[in-house]
Amino acid sequence: MTSCNAATPVTEKVNLLGKTLPQLEAFFVEELGEKKFRAAQIMKWIHHHGVNSFEQMTDLSKSLREKLLACAEVRPPKVELEEISTDGTRKWVLEVGTGSHVEAVLIPVGNNRRTLCVSSQVGCSLDCSFCSTGKQGFQRNLTPAEIIGQLWVAQQSFGSRNDSKNRPITNVVMMGMGEPLMNFRPAVDAMKIMLDDNGYGLSKRRVTLSTAGLVPQIDLLGDEVDVSLAISLHAPNDELRNQLVPLNRKYPIQELLDACKRYLSKCGDSRDITVEYTLIAGVNDQLEHAKQLAALLKQLPCKINLIPFNPFPGSDYQRPSRNQQVRFQNYLHEQGYSAPIRMTRGDDIDAACGQLVGRVQDKTRRSARYAEQALIQVHQVEPN
Ligand code: SAH
Repeated sequence: MTSCNAATPVTEKVNLLGKTLPQLEAFFVEELGEKKFRAAQIMKWIHHHGVNSFEQMTDLSKSLREKLLACAEVRPPKVELEEISTDGTRKWVLEVGTGSHVEAVLIPVGNNRRTLCVSSQVGCSLDCSFCSTGKQGFQRNLTPAEIIGQLWVAQQSFGSRNDSKNRPITNVVMMGMGEPLMNFRPAVDAMKIMLDDNGYGLSKRRVTLSTAGLVPQIDLLGDEVDVSLAISLHAPNDELRNQLVPLNRKYPIQELLDACKRYLSKCGDSRDITVEYTLIAGVNDQLEHAKQLAALLKQLPCKINLIPFNPFPGSDYQRPSRNQQVRFQNYLHEQGYSAPIRMTRGDDIDAACGQLVGRVQDKTRRSARYAEQALIQVHQVEPN
């Protein structure tokens, strides 16, 4: 870690935004020679109050603020564009290094629930056949500060503080760009900040990690933090899943379901796994698939989220008709499953599942377009 000794020249400042409580405590005690309680104090400034300048942290002494200024910073990702959909969904395009962008999407449900969909990587290496992020390829992992920074930025746009009486963001799903379990440590650290009362104070049932099925990392996750788990299943047999989710060749369905059972046994409370199933016309949406799925999942306490396929440029897949979606759903209902069809949200701002790469693949043109739109649209964002 960077030394904060006044005599040592500092090259890169430590970004405190992405530090968990124990990491901040170590920083204050070992690097600054300060008391441990400063860590909780500064976390509240950052995450409850949304403050990112040490000058505004008024209960810190002047000398401590100066020490911090010399070697640390609270640096959120840069917002390149904020858009609001006609259905209330909000999307942020964040710049994470030159020319690289990730997106965070806030989905309001009723009056009391606001779920933020958070990205964990720039691009994705898994290349699921129906996902636009996969078509972009993998660029890099996000840092803990860039992951938790999405929450920080979203909360900022509501202009209010976060405490137990008022939570601008009530739920988080790690379902944006990337595979969170391929970026394990930063994703776990960011979730620890989400759960910490000095951070966002969310309950572990309100933070959901979604994975395409990295079996060893599911086991590791259960040892670290028992957030809610969602798996991207999308097919009821290995032959079909191998085509849709190439990772299945490494960790086939039964191994994945066994890992889910081990995960549930580590959670201290009774919990279900969320099984995500993207319905693709003529591919996995037939009654026969519903029958196989219902039989397969008998072994796992779960609820099934049906996601009608969201088309994107360059994809040959189609969304099934509403009738076909409901037929599939009805069979699962008859078999006793909870199986909501996820409403498509934020379509007009490309914020729906699998659309997060944006309209144009070419990064340079995209950046130019974002910059252009940013000038127009950031100023149109309504205050809440
Ligand atoms: N890599 C993780 C996190 C991404 S979550 C995972 O696979 O779970 C995004 C969810 O949306 C996943 O269930 C994903 O399979 C689904 N999805 C991706 N592209 C989609 C598309 N075009 N239409 C509908 N759902 C899609």
